[in-house]
Amino acid sequence: MNTNQKQKINCSVVSCKYNDVNSKICELSQIEVKACPGCSNGTAEEESMCGNYKHID
Ligand code: SF4
Repeated sequence: MNTNQKQKINCSVVSCKYNDVNSKICELSQIEVKACPGCSNGTAEEESMCGNYKHID
C-alpha cells in the first residue's frame, strides 16, 4: 500500500470530538493507535486504543 495515499479512518466512538457522528468517520487526517498501559492479555478491546481521542467538550 502506498503510504502517501490518504487514509480514511472509520470510527464509531461517538463521544470523541473528532468523530463525525453521521458518517462515523474520523475527521483527523491521521491518528496514532497506542497500546493500552499495563495490558497484554491478548483481548482486542484491552490491547490498543486511539491515542488521539478527546471527549466532546
Ligand atoms: S480521534 Fe480516534 S477516537 Fe476520535 S474519531 Fe478519530 S479515530 Fe475515533
